[in-house]
Amino acid sequence: MQSENLKVAIVGGGLAGFTAACRILQAKPQTEITIFEKSAQAGGRASTKVKEGFHLNQGAHALYRAGSAMAFLKEIGLTPAGAAPNTFDGTAIYGDEFFTLPLSPGDMIKTKLFSTVEKVELSGFLLGLNKFDQAALASTNVSDWLDKVSKNAKVKELLQAILRLCTYSNNPEKLSAGAAVGQLIMSQGGVLYLDGGWQSIVDGLWGKVQDLAAQPPTLRPNTAVTGLQSNESSDNGRSNVTVITGGAQVAEETFDAVILAVPPAQVAQLLPEAIAADVRQALDKCVPGRVAGLDICLKKAPAPKTVYGLGVDEPLYYSMHSSAAKLTAEAEQALIHMAYYLPHGEVGNERHEARMLSVLDRLQPGWQDELVYKRYLPEMTADYGQPLASQSGVQGLASPILPLANVFAAGDFVGSNKFLADGAVTSALRAADLLLEQTKNLEKIVLQTV
Ligand SMILES: Cc1cc2nc3c(=O)[nH]c(=O)nc-3n(C[C@H](O)[C@H](O)[C@H](O)COP(=O)(O)OP(=O)(O)OC[C@H]3O[C@@H](n4cnc5c(N)ncnc54)[C@H](O)[C@@H]3O)c2cc1C
Repeated sequence: MQSENLKVAIVGGGLAGFTAACRILQAKPQTEITIFEKSAQAGGRASTKVKEGFHLNQGAHALYRAGSAMAFLKEIGLTPAGAAPNTFDGTAIYGDEFFTLPLSPGDMIKTKLFSTVEKVELSGFLLGLNKFDQAALASTNVSDWLDKVSKNAKVKELLQAILRLCTYSNNPEKLSAGAAVGQLIMSQGGVLYLDGGWQSIVDGLWGKVQDLAAQPPTLRPNTAVTGLQSNESSDNGRSNVTVITGGAQVAEETFDAVILAVPPAQVAQLLPEAIAADVRQALDKCVPGRVAGLDICLKKAPAPKTVYGLGVDEPLYYSMHSSAAKLTAEAEQALIHMAYYLPHGEVGNERHEARMLSVLDRLQPGWQDELVYKRYLPEMTADYGQPLASQSGVQGLASPILPLANVFAAGDFVGSNKFLADGAVTSALRAADLLLEQTKNLEKIVLQTV
């Protein structure tokens, strides 16, 4: 006999997938949850790999203290352990010259990068952020907006660098200024680097899923879902989802509803071709924020106090994450994340790596002698869908409601006024709420996996 409990499939075992599972179980603990994850390790872009005792996130990750991911984690009793990076006395990289990075009032006074007049203009701008009408700026791109707020090229470069840092976007001609201002204001609440890396959040969420569930939840690693098929409801309006595992052995399983917590290209691929043309188009229009990342693990840092740097006229990032969070086996060891923010359409290559290495040579002279492990990831997607001016900012992002009954989307490309992990978590909560609302009128869905 079929169980009376709600059966939900979540495709994608990243932050969005686990968040959605938690929310559903908070409301309906009896729900039978199955999470399908194509990789062996859960966590997606929030996963952490351990190499020779160093905890490596997928590139530089910082949790916004005032963001919605942090708010949800706290709500469910998971308070991530970690610490804020020290950005005081950081390095502003300007061409081949290094200056004090003016991210605090004290460093603004100290830096020789700007004249007094420029410092007054910058301080006024940063202190007056709340005066900008975010809604009115939704359809203005960041470049046009910065041209309006300042006539000074160097001032605009620093503002652009700060916006790149908090949005992970190097697409100023496309990014919505309204959304970017909102993100900048939120980011003033500070960030945390997490002890043990972001896997600590993933593991915490999975633990929470298990605690909340009255029925044992299932996590299926190494299981890729390959297609969805919706059928007429056959029994009392209950939806039926059939999971098909492909390859040598095909298996099928039924569910009442599905959340697709996978990247936009995967969502497009999983939806039946006939019904999803317009959704596909919307998903195709997602403009990602991408970076080339360089991770450096050292026995000890030659310059242990050089912990933070930002390119001002070039899209560069440098931070010794181990100076704030516990990410190494030995206290003396150092883990540095560097990034080159890629403009839309540009592919990460050796040039970006060479440039980061040349900056590293100057910030940590002699680092090669201390090297334990080095990793270059030329193309990572930090955010799959950024709010664009051409689409009125967040208004234009993908909908969580898909054209297949009781199938919903979650992820950082799904419409919310949040970026990055905050977008993933916000959209997952929304998808879960929609699913809970709509589980009365369900149709049969076939889910195919390999
Ligand atoms: C370099 C980098 C830096 C970042 N820095 C920050 C930061 O500082 N602050 C911040 O807030 N956020 C940051 N982020 C963003 C943050 O990591 C993501 O927003 C968040 O992890 C996205 O979670 P998700 O679950 O939506 O997607 P993902 O993590 O991409 O999860 C999707 C999951 O679905 C699985 N999957 C895909 N297809 C299938 C299928 N067919 N069947 C089954 N499973 C499938 C994937 O394997 C993956 O595990 C950064 C990301 C990167 C890459």
